[in-house]
Amino acid sequence: MSDVVIVGGGIVGLACAYETARAGMKVTLLEYGKTAMQATNAAAGMLAPMIESHGPGPMLDLGLRALHDMPEQVDELQQRCGFDLELRLHGILKVAFTEEQFAELRQRQAWLESCGHDVALLDGEQCREAAPRISERVIGGIYSASEGSVSNQMLALALERGAEALGVDIRQRAPAVGFTTGGERVTAVRTPDGDVGCDAVVIAAGARSGQIAARLSVNGSNPIPVRPIRGQMIALGGMSCPIRSVVWGPEGYLVPRANGLVFAGATVEDVGFRRRTTTAGLRAMRSMASRLVPQLRASQQRFDWAGLRPGTPDGLPIIGPMPAWLNVIAATGHFRNGILLGPITGRLVANGLGGDWSETSPEFSPGRFV
Ligand SMILES: Cc1cc2nc3c(=O)[nH]c(=O)nc-3n(C[C@H](O)[C@H](O)[C@H](O)COP(=O)(O)OP(=O)(O)OC[C@H]3O[C@@H](n4cnc5c(N)ncnc54)[C@H](O)[C@@H]3O)c2cc1C
Repeated sequence: MSDVVIVGGGIVGLACAYETARAGMKVTLLEYGKTAMQATNAAAGMLAPMIESHGPGPMLDLGLRALHDMPEQVDELQQRCGFDLELRLHGILKVAFTEEQFAELRQRQAWLESCGHDVALLDGEQCREAAPRISERVIGGIYSASEGSVSNQMLALALERGAEALGVDIRQRAPAVGFTTGGERVTAVRTPDGDVGCDAVVIAAGARSGQIAARLSVNGSNPIPVRPIRGQMIALGGMSCPIRSVVWGPEGYLVPRANGLVFAGATVEDVGFRRRTTTAGLRAMRSMASRLVPQLRASQQRFDWAGLRPGTPDGLPIIGPMPAWLNVIAATGHFRNGILLGPITGRLVANGLGGDWSETSPEFSPGRFV
């Protein structure tokens, strides 16, 4: 019998496991396959709440808080685990090639500045001073000095090791296939190897959260309408890394990684659960990279992959108690920002299980879909 059973071992489930165990709860985590091998492994690791924001609101607020907390969380995990999580807050540059694109960036910079956020407007020359190898065709951009990236793989591994050290029972190849219920409570999570009894359940199954949550559907409506949104990426190498920090263009981004590779991504495709890469998708990423940093034309394509982001109808994550159930929590739908938002989601869920949802925006509540 566990205090909490967490369904899903991506970054969100692992962070929930780590934080709930840290709060003193007895935790079991059920992972369908192998932990952190789905969207969490596919990500680029950017921490970019401002550069990626579409406007003020709870999403930007949560992202900023996540960015603020990240160095302390990473430091704590590094001390526990003894390896580098490659947190690099070296700034992010977003550039424009056309007047229309630059106008959109100017507008973004203006509202970010009016909200008190430190994002600078740069002309083409200033962009090339910030990132000397970017294209001569760049006419301007915006620069956020406090954003950057982390190794998504190392962060997930550290959360897993940290959770295990705190006594979390992490079960690989242990899919949740249903629930045993009593009244308005889930009393156990069903797996092919038997039931795992629990006081509370956290659904953190990424793009598949909707499928498992459908087992808890009341009146036929899906309480977690998450849909998979495919992203394809490539890793470029074979040359000394031409960029020091993250660069975004109108069609994608480049992330320099500690091992010298440049990750170039990502497509955004609504193609169901098809996780394979496509020739067209990979070619688009390759040409995006070369347009942004022409020197990358001479690079070698070392790896390619695709992952399924957990998307939601309104673009906001789903964090909070599930309507109609007294002890089921949703922690999913982080779409393009799950690496940034995973660790803070773990904290919000741990607080919520302790009875305090005051720091979680009601706009993230699964109740909004009922
Ligand atoms: C190409 C790409 C680039 C990205 N780049 C960034 C980025 O730069 N920065 C950023 O912040 N975010 C980025 N993201 C988004 C980020 O990767 C996701 O938001 C995040 O990984 C979601 O984490 P998760 O734990 O919810 O889902 P996942 O990592 O998908 O984990 C869900 C887990 O649940 C398991 N599961 C499913 N069903 C069951 C079941 N029935 N029982 C048990 N387990 C189950 C799955 O096997 C999986 O391991 C990117 C995503 C992609 C695809």
